[in-house]
Amino acid sequence: MTDLHWFNVFLYAWMGLAVVIFIFMTSLKIAAPYGRYTREGWGAFIGNRAAWVLMEIPSLILFMTFFLTGSLHHDGVTWFFFAVWVFHYTNRSLIYPFRTRTQKKKMPLSVMFMGMFFNLVNATTNGYYLGYIQPVYPAGWWHDPRFLAGVLIYLAGVVMNWWADGRLIGLRKDNGTDYAIPYGGMFRYVSCPNYLGEMMEWGGFALMAWNLPALAFFVWTVSNLLPRALNHHAWYRQKFPDYPGERKAVVPFII
Ligand code: NDP
Repeated sequence: MTDLHWFNVFLYAWMGLAVVIFIFMTSLKIAAPYGRYTREGWGAFIGNRAAWVLMEIPSLILFMTFFLTGSLHHDGVTWFFFAVWVFHYTNRSLIYPFRTRTQKKKMPLSVMFMGMFFNLVNATTNGYYLGYIQPVYPAGWWHDPRFLAGVLIYLAGVVMNWWADGRLIGLRKDNGTDYAIPYGGMFRYVSCPNYLGEMMEWGGFALMAWNLPALAFFVWTVSNLLPRALNHHAWYRQKFPDYPGERKAVVPFII
């Protein structure tokens, strides 16, 4: 049995765990206790902004470390994947937390550590694969339909995610802790376009990189964000009697 065999076995098990957690979270309607669902019973708390930085930064550092210290020669394609990852995680760990208006909010340390673990596994498997394992992409990969479609989906996801996060953050003007109904753009169709954008980003990445760790990361992203979008949608409908009835949770006209 080769190392690659065990690496792949681990990734299939990791994806299986995502599916189990997805079923568990959706069937029991459990909401991860951060943001609007922060509650007692999950141990000590940490400030929200610090939690986001600490939770997300391992993804940036570990991916870069494995990619850059790996034994493989990198070509333009793998450098492109590097840029995609670093771009996303520079925002998520160093820019996004300072855009939020959550100074008065806290996150349970246990949730932060779970998020850290999730990032640790995904960044390690993706960085390790591209740094140490990855077979060379075919010469024409830049023109391959999987690459092109992946890039388009990724870019559309980035725009949607950034725009929607910005719109949500902008709803809270006074450093309070209140929530309001978001309107405009993709909010006309879904309650959580930021989650739709994030899922598109990693779906696009999986398509353009066409490898198992990228697929596993996409599966985990859906497993995290789809149940949370359903929770947010139900929460909005319960909290605001005038919430737009035609809006879906996360996939326009469908879910
Ligand atoms: P939310 O949509 O719950 O919140 C985003 C920000 O907007 C928070 O600061 C939140 O404040 C605020 N906010 C949300 N809705 C409202 C509203 N109606 N009125 C006022 N303020 C509002 O997103 P998450 O915090 O769950 O996620 C943040 C980002 O991280 C997203 O882009 C998401 O895609 C990404 N993410 C990715 C994951 C992955 O698996 N790849 C997993 C989790 C998140 P507050 O915190 O006080 O609720």
